[in-house]
Amino acid sequence: MQNVNCVNARTVAFVTLGCAKNEVDTRDMGNKLRSAGHRVIDNPELADIVIVNTCSFIQSATEESIDTIFELCELPRIEDGSAALVVAGCMPARYGSDLEEELSEPKAFVPCSKEDDIVAVVESIALEGVQGDLVDEEQATSDVFAYVKISDGCDRWCSYCTIPIIRGRYRSFPYESIREEVASCVDAGAKEVCLIAQDTGKWGSDFEDPQTLAWLVEKLATEFCDTWIRIMYLQPEGITEELLSVIAKFDNICSYIDMPLQHVDADVLRSMNRSGSRAEIEECFERIFSIVPDMTLRTTLIAGYPGETEEQFEELCDFVENSPFSYIGVFPYSREEGTRAYDLPDQLDEDEKLERAQRIRDIADAVCASRVAMRIGNKETVLVEGVEDDGQLYGRCQCQAPEVDGVTFVEKGEPGDFVKTTIIDTLMYEMEGE
Ligand code: SF4
Repeated sequence: MQNVNCVNARTVAFVTLGCAKNEVDTRDMGNKLRSAGHRVIDNPELADIVIVNTCSFIQSATEESIDTIFELCELPRIEDGSAALVVAGCMPARYGSDLEEELSEPKAFVPCSKEDDIVAVVESIALEGVQGDLVDEEQATSDVFAYVKISDGCDRWCSYCTIPIIRGRYRSFPYESIREEVASCVDAGAKEVCLIAQDTGKWGSDFEDPQTLAWLVEKLATEFCDTWIRIMYLQPEGITEELLSVIAKFDNICSYIDMPLQHVDADVLRSMNRSGSRAEIEECFERIFSIVPDMTLRTTLIAGYPGETEEQFEELCDFVENSPFSYIGVFPYSREEGTRAYDLPDQLDEDEKLERAQRIRDIADAVCASRVAMRIGNKETVLVEGVEDDGQLYGRCQCQAPEVDGVTFVEKGEPGDFVKTTIIDTLMYEMEGE
């Protein structure tokens, strides 16, 4: 006869899709489960509860989330009922009860706003058979870098974006909780902390006593002086002289800005419900380099936005060709239900959007690879991250953000070490140090 358990200590595995913000949410849920006495493991096949933290920012991400859910439904323990699947994150937030009606296999749906209740959800699921004793050893993970979320949500309502619908209003996290999170990542071995949010530059503006991102990073860089601090997702409006001066002042704040521009044509930007123009963006570059001459820049762009004329697209290509970026992510416009851009006239067909995105990517690759090659001869500090399958040691310089910008190959060091190297060669986005 089989038992039915409700509140045993459980083994839980996460499958995380999407961006770094989801990775942070997974870590937070994992910490809550550990604190409540449950075990978090890496292998979904051995877990009592498999939580898939979904992304549904754009249609292709939603499709990937659904494919992953179906794959996980085929795990033997999910099929025989001794384990259960939980769907968390952006997809339940975006699709709500429609999703629950469509998918019968998951035992629970946890939208972003309810992730704080994950312990209660996990404990409320009844499973068949004996759980919690299938794993001998918890797999400890210790990363050289960590993401720390400083706010959630977004108030900008860019016309193409589902994030405000999924994540709600912008809310900054208090300084004390960010500091505590950074301290716990550093204690766990992180040598680099990447501050993330939908819009990092707005941090603190919603407090009763408003604060600035510059103030926050200065505090963190002072206290955690042996840790690199990196700022991601900084909208152009957030690149203030105050912030640039703080970046210039501290060696451990990476001279690196990820500034999502999406476009440079003023009319397209206005239609996107964003502000600015090519001239204003170029002025912003001047301000950046006058205060931080060695700044590395990354951006993301959208090709094929509704109504984007051939002329506006050519302007974007010309901008990329003459821009100071080292890294550029290019995405074809994705038409998302519920957004304002969904109903705009002059939607481009899929082939045209893909073709435009590829044209900009080709230009961006040439421009960025040659900018990366200009680092040959530079003396750089590399944070050693690990060893590749072929035994090659690698790490990253301050000019390379984790997971997106390539790596630097080095000759010696242990993961977590900072080593000095001279860049002797580059291959597209990878660099070789000696
Ligand atoms: S700034 Fe715009 S694109 Fe970024 S999350 Fe907010 S609404 Fe979306």
